[in-house]
Amino acid sequence: MFDVIVVGGGNAALCAALTAREGGASVLILESAPIEWRGGNSVHTRNLRCMHDAPQDVLVEAYPEEEFWQDLLKVTGGLTNEKLARIIIRGTSTVRDWMRKHGVHFQPSLSGTLHVARTNAFFMGGGKALVNAFFRSAEQLGIKIRYETTVKHVNVKDGIFESVVLDNGEVISGKSCVLACGGFESNREWLKEAWGQNENGEWPADNFLIRGTKFNRGDVLKNLLDQGADQIGDVTQGHCVAIDARSPLYDGGICTRLDCVSLGIVVNQFAKRFYDEGEDFWPKRYAIWGRLVALQQGQIAYSIIDSKAIGRFMPPVFSAIKGNTISEIAQQLNLDVDQLNQTVNEFNQSCHVGTFNHNILDDCHTENIAPEKTHWALPIDQGPFYAYPLRPGITFTYLSLKTDETAAVFFNEQASPNLFVAGELMAGNVLGKGYTAGIGMSIGTIFGRIAGQSAADAVKKMKESHAHA
Ligand SMILES: Cc1cc2nc3c(=O)[nH]c(=O)nc-3n(C[C@H](O)[C@H](O)[C@H](O)COP(=O)(O)OP(=O)(O)OC[C@H]3O[C@@H](n4cnc5c(N)ncnc54)[C@H](O)[C@@H]3O)c2cc1C
Repeated sequence: MFDVIVVGGGNAALCAALTAREGGASVLILESAPIEWRGGNSVHTRNLRCMHDAPQDVLVEAYPEEEFWQDLLKVTGGLTNEKLARIIIRGTSTVRDWMRKHGVHFQPSLSGTLHVARTNAFFMGGGKALVNAFFRSAEQLGIKIRYETTVKHVNVKDGIFESVVLDNGEVISGKSCVLACGGFESNREWLKEAWGQNENGEWPADNFLIRGTKFNRGDVLKNLLDQGADQIGDVTQGHCVAIDARSPLYDGGICTRLDCVSLGIVVNQFAKRFYDEGEDFWPKRYAIWGRLVALQQGQIAYSIIDSKAIGRFMPPVFSAIKGNTISEIAQQLNLDVDQLNQTVNEFNQSCHVGTFNHNILDDCHTENIAPEKTHWALPIDQGPFYAYPLRPGITFTYLSLKTDETAAVFFNEQASPNLFVAGELMAGNVLGKGYTAGIGMSIGTIFGRIAGQSAADAVKKMKESHAHA
């Protein structure tokens, strides 16, 4: 029998497995995906948000605990557990050395991206390289890995973990267990049920695209909730980005995101604006746009920019729809030509142009228009014009298993002594809503390590009590 069974094969699972092994436990990883698709959503990532009080290897300037905490507080609107959040924030100040020990490399900060180079450490080779490094290290440390192995049921008796049951009926017992198998974002039926039908009779989730792995179906989450595990979070909340509507259903990854939203206007299928496109920097605000598009009729929107915006955002993977006039753009998007011209004209007339600077919350804003655009508001007047269709791109869901500082799974407000949780599966404890770039990996890495340590400690305790019996 293995000491620790880890369910999942992404960053959180790997951090848990490696830490449990370092704590002296024998470890088995069960990963749903085949080897070539291993690593879950973590393979798509690029960076980790880290606090630091002074410049530190790849991070410039300082990003103190309090600023990180305030950023989180702002995006979640207070829907966060401060104690757990601060554990995560503090943990990020030292975790990079541990990650390096297991083969992860970080890239030097990029020039021209100061607001991200200060807060986020970028993985050399991205999340795919990180996951591969962790798997290599796991193999070297003697951790057993089984691919194409899906856990369907977790046997828990009186809050105590006993075994897992696979989709083929096989039962695997363990002394303790870490659940780190993602949210339910790739379970389209569950998303549909969660979002329900809107006032127009539409099922919004039918139009969602999933940015990451198709293996995060939430089987274990549902199973634990059915068994009375304590839950936290709203079933419809999650990290949801506006992505190019032409993206594939699964695994489109980072390149399908559109960063031009704040440089122009966004209109719905009635050619009308519906939200302040210049509210804040993209690392703080980009994750609200998927949800905003999801709330529009048809779950479709269009980002419209002019030639001045070209070169000011990451080049997207799909080419833009191009037109010499706004009318040409409207025709190509099947939007009402007069209405789009009116929306653009009204916006242009409302622009109070100051000193444009996309690196700060500048003073270019609108006046006497609703919704306002509070920064980077420049008239859309220099052809050719460009447009991108937007759909909600779901990254991960926030409905979670409730946990504490030991990463224990709770049943009736009682902490399990040997069942722990990490990553997306518990992210809702600190992310009630909203998102700030890089915190998904901060949560997964720090809670992965805590869960792994707790699982190894639980096994030690068990061995000690047997020795004394
Ligand atoms: C395109 C994209 C870009 C992102 N960029 C960033 C970024 O730059 N920085 C950041 O912080 N976050 C980013 N995120 C979010 C980040 O991916 C997650 O927060 C983080 O990877 C979660 O790690 P995890 O280990 O909990 O889940 P995952 O990495 O998704 O791993 C879950 C694993 O569980 C397995 N699994 C699922 N169900 C079962 C089951 N029943 N039995 C066995 N195994 C199962 C899956 O196969 C998968 O391997 C991004 C996400 C996407 C999709």
